[in-house]
Amino acid sequence: MSPNRSTLIVHTSLLFDPIQKAFLENVSVEVNTETGAIVRLHHRNTPDLPSPLSSRDIDLRDKVVLPGLVDSHTHIFLHSDKDRFHSLQMRDESAVERTVRATNHARAGLLAGYTTYRDLGTEALGNADANLRDCVNRGLTPGPRLFVATEALASSGGYEIRTENKLTRGGPLGLGLPRAADVVDGFYADYRRRVMRFPPDVAGPGGRVLFPPDRRERNPAVVLFSQEEMDAIVVEARMADVPVAAHAAETSTALMAARAGVTTVEHVFADRDGCMEAMVEEMLEKGTIWVPTLATAEESFGEDKFDRCKRAVKAAHDKGVRIAAGGDTGDFNHGLNCREMEIMIEAGIPIEDVLVAATHTGWHACGGDASGFRFGWWDEGNRADIVALDTDPRKDAKAMRKVSFVMKDARVWKRDGRPVDMFPATQWPEEAAESSEEECIQLRQKPGRAATFGIPNPTALSIRGSGNPTPAASDVGWETDSFDVKLA
Ligand SMILES: [Zn+2]
Repeated sequence: MSPNRSTLIVHTSLLFDPIQKAFLENVSVEVNTETGAIVRLHHRNTPDLPSPLSSRDIDLRDKVVLPGLVDSHTHIFLHSDKDRFHSLQMRDESAVERTVRATNHARAGLLAGYTTYRDLGTEALGNADANLRDCVNRGLTPGPRLFVATEALASSGGYEIRTENKLTRGGPLGLGLPRAADVVDGFYADYRRRVMRFPPDVAGPGGRVLFPPDRRERNPAVVLFSQEEMDAIVVEARMADVPVAAHAAETSTALMAARAGVTTVEHVFADRDGCMEAMVEEMLEKGTIWVPTLATAEESFGEDKFDRCKRAVKAAHDKGVRIAAGGDTGDFNHGLNCREMEIMIEAGIPIEDVLVAATHTGWHACGGDASGFRFGWWDEGNRADIVALDTDPRKDAKAMRKVSFVMKDARVWKRDGRPVDMFPATQWPEEAAESSEEECIQLRQKPGRAATFGIPNPTALSIRGSGNPTPAASDVGWETDSFDVKLA
């Protein structure tokens, strides 16, 4: 275990292995900071470490260590529906504001232990998710590894920003609405498209509808594509070697999407047509991954419907359906991503299976090797994404909120519960920062020069890479809420 300059070793005493579905003791993970990859795992015979430790060693022995987490269903450009309903965010927030918020969301997600986001649609911001992904990958701003869908595919009128005032759309009277969906590698198999037939019975512009229909559900999700169309979408995606995510609120449309061969089915909250059993069978046969987004179900539904959602996911899991953890994060605030895992545990899914859903199955949901990377489990050459919790999730129901350490691509972003290097300052070239006493004396003797030659005190310059944690006020702990709240 003698690391060279580009390697460092992370020592653990308790590490979760998603492949064995087991907690392993006394493993050290050697990572390469130049490649951002895992070099090898060392199994030690004892919790002790050889002393003295190298200054490049990281000691996580009193923590519970996991592979970096994957949130399999996010919207980086959305913040909580409770702050402002998402269609109003799309309609009213500027592209600049949404981008600034997304930058904060990326930090919040990363600090919550999420090193990968599978982001399913910008929600009316075109390809901006791909641009943000590139900014993260170029090192311009910290964030999870983003896999993005740009605009989702929906049929005409299937998924649009709704307004009762259609006359002005894109017209000379002023109001133009950005479109919310188009063709790419995710699609809406169904949606609540009948909203214009029976507007929602809520107070708002126009007021309440006096006699809403009482014989039909006002605005259920209805199918947006025929089976042949769904099949064609999957065929196209396969040719492009990209995974396909299908939004499906109903079991009947989830069944069609699974038949078509999609990689994942998102949501599935209702079973009006009694297709649950057939859907589960089809998913088992095709290996479809279900991303049940229970965290957004908790936000959106009453207790009864939420309970039904949880029971359905538990039953499908028991039958062997692959489940990935994705909260629809953005419907609630980024940084609170782990709520999805907590609900799965509350639903009765064993903690080890939930951790697999949030790591290894997340990688499969991102397309597996088609994603271009390996992450979500421990292996030589995998991305060096490492997360440590302060407490053991088998004993502490809130353990997933207590993220102490985050490494992504072998770079540390959080240590001892505090962000590290989140806001790098501009650094003077080394020779310019080097000051000499002689120079100081000269400056004092010629006060007139100071204004044009005012190099500040060199200790104030060495901020970047100092390893000094950013002040705790900029941390995104569970208790302190997300960047959105603080910056709003
Ligand atoms: Zn979503």
